[in-house]
Amino acid sequence: MTQSYDAIVIGAGQAGPALAGRLTTAGMKVALIERHLFGGTCVNTGCMPTKTLVASAYAAHLARRGAEFGFSFSGEVQIDMKRVKARADAISTTARNNIEKWLQGMANCTVLKGHARFESSNTIVVDGQQLTAPRIFINVGGRAHIPNFPGVGDVSYLTNTSMLALDELPEHLVVVGGSYIGLEFAQMYRRFGAKVTVVEKGPRLVSREDEDISTAIREIVESEGIAVRTGAECISLARRPGGIGVHVNCTDGEPEVIGSHALLAVGRRPNTDDLGLDKAGIATDAHGYISVDDTLATNVPGIWALGDCNGRAAFTHTAYNDFEIVAANLLDGDRRRLSERVLGYALYIDPPLGRVGMTETQARASGRPLLIGRRPMTRVGRANEKAENQGFMKIIADAQTRKVLGAAILGLSGDEAIHSILTLMNADAPYSVLQRATPIHPTVSELLPTVLGEMQPG
Ligand SMILES: Cc1cc2nc3c(=O)[nH]c(=O)nc-3n(C[C@H](O)[C@H](O)[C@H](O)COP(=O)(O)OP(=O)(O)OC[C@H]3O[C@@H](n4cnc5c(N)ncnc54)[C@H](O)[C@@H]3O)c2cc1C
Repeated sequence: MTQSYDAIVIGAGQAGPALAGRLTTAGMKVALIERHLFGGTCVNTGCMPTKTLVASAYAAHLARRGAEFGFSFSGEVQIDMKRVKARADAISTTARNNIEKWLQGMANCTVLKGHARFESSNTIVVDGQQLTAPRIFINVGGRAHIPNFPGVGDVSYLTNTSMLALDELPEHLVVVGGSYIGLEFAQMYRRFGAKVTVVEKGPRLVSREDEDISTAIREIVESEGIAVRTGAECISLARRPGGIGVHVNCTDGEPEVIGSHALLAVGRRPNTDDLGLDKAGIATDAHGYISVDDTLATNVPGIWALGDCNGRAAFTHTAYNDFEIVAANLLDGDRRRLSERVLGYALYIDPPLGRVGMTETQARASGRPLLIGRRPMTRVGRANEKAENQGFMKIIADAQTRKVLGAAILGLSGDEAIHSILTLMNADAPYSVLQRATPIHPTVSELLPTVLGEMQPG
């Protein structure tokens, strides 16, 4: 028998649960379907466990630097990976259970555990059970992309998910992919005590960022003893005695790196291949991301796609913002649009990179006259006081409108300090507004008005 609802939400990631909350509060009868872990990627295999591990790695790193701060203790820093993992597991588990408890207790919400598949544009099947609704919201997220490198099927590689099940220290971790996810794992495992090599096929790390950022990040990770092999154009994998051989074929250095473990961190793909989208006539792009308009609506009336699966961004805060946009349009009569979003994000190596808006490369390509301000973190008092002064900050503005186009803060608290600029850009205000503020001393943010006051034509 088909069960009728006012709305069906597929996926309990970062947008689905909050949307179910708003829809039920608005009086709708909602079915929410989750096939695996409540909270999705961020809570279980993404942001939360990784940032917990990054924090453990940071503590160990700082302890090793004790002499710089004027203290010592006998013996070496000993990492107990089982305890490190247990700490990350506990934080994820608490969040996951809280989300499930919230949904299970939500009035007017029926929670179904199982894999959802479209049967038609208004019908979903879960474990043989048919559900129908005039509104369907897809929040199915994504998973690690497994590249078809030669030999990939012959070795037992790791992904961001299986990395989190490790409770022992790899002797030598080879990270294939020198971008956001790969670098976070690389640095944390180096700090836990593993030998680490990063293999990147492009000519530089995090190639979406400006070259000066890539260079500074490379210096930071290399300064901790991480080996970086860029320009690895013909990557292949093979079983070797005692581990996995990653053939890198770089122009310099050994042609093969042999690690005890290999992590593949070469991008993500959407969970849309097993959703029956064709039965509903829902359009996707060539990579399987669901095509959406400025209100997150798909090409099929009554169906929306939110979060990583729409390919518009791949962050927790953007998935949540998708929920806010959909709810505003549907329930509040507020015409919020995706195109109004100012995109900010962070890379959680230490020190972190906080980013917002355009890169310098993108700003130059736009042809606008630019003003650019830079400051090394060695000229930030707070960073010197904490002996964490690697990196730099950079702000790019339109010379005519005096509005900030983008910024990067690679350095102590860069993930937090970037928010002044994110807010300024959201307010669409000229940078004089921030320049005339009186920030708190001593902080990293207090230097932002100074950088803005020293902007030069670029
Ligand atoms: C290692 C790592 C670190 C990250 N760190 C950060 C970070 O620091 N900050 C940040 O902003 N972002 C980070 N991200 C990205 C962030 O995790 C994602 O952008 C975010 O989780 C996307 O949320 P979502 O709701 O779109 O999808 P998800 O959180 O992936 O949720 C989708 C849910 O849908 C379910 N599902 C899928 N298909 C079906 C189906 N057919 N039927 C029923 N249920 C289904 C899945 O089981 C899942 O629970 C990280 C990602 C990774 C991998």
